Amino acid sequence: MSDHSNCIFCGIVRGDIPAVRVYEDEHTAAFMDVQPASPGHTLVIPKAHAANLFEISAADLVATTLTTQRMARLVQKALAPDGIRIMQTNGAAAGQTVFHYHVHIIPMQDGQRLGAHGRERADPEVLKALAAKIQNALRP
Ligand code: 5GP
Ligand code: ZN
Repeated sequence: MSDHSNCIFCGIVRGDIPAVRVYEDEHTAAFMDVQPASPGHTLVIPKAHAANLFEISAADLVATTLTTQRMARLVQKALAPDGIRIMQTNGAAAGQTVFHYHVHIIPMQDGQRLGAHGRERADPEVLKALAAKIQNALRP
């Protein structure tokens, strides 16, 4: 497994690095992307470090995929985008900038052309409000 002593997402899992969290279970976590491509851009990760799709264990891949579906449903219910882009990068050439496996959930609107990454960091208060809206969608 790759060296992950300085991994940002491991820091978020440990609670050493702040994040606007949306969901957590035994094996996975979801939090708001700090530099969102669109409002509601959420990241889903396995808690155990794996750099990419090649390294992640089968069990964590299944758990992360199930959490991704769960979160995408919540984002759909909470924000009602026209579509949701699911994106996952492997290697710098593919656009990967954080080398801990993660899946992007990016709400899309009709006619919108979006890059994979946002241009600027979001206001934490705005991220907290979006996270609360997504969490509220958990309620029946
Ligand atoms: P990648 O480029 O590796 O596919 O995606 C990494 C994502 O992580 C980017 O969208 C970036 O905005 C996000 N990101 C980078 N550092 C942090 C951080 O410290 N906190 C959060 N919440 N997101 C981060
Ligand atoms: Zn990590």
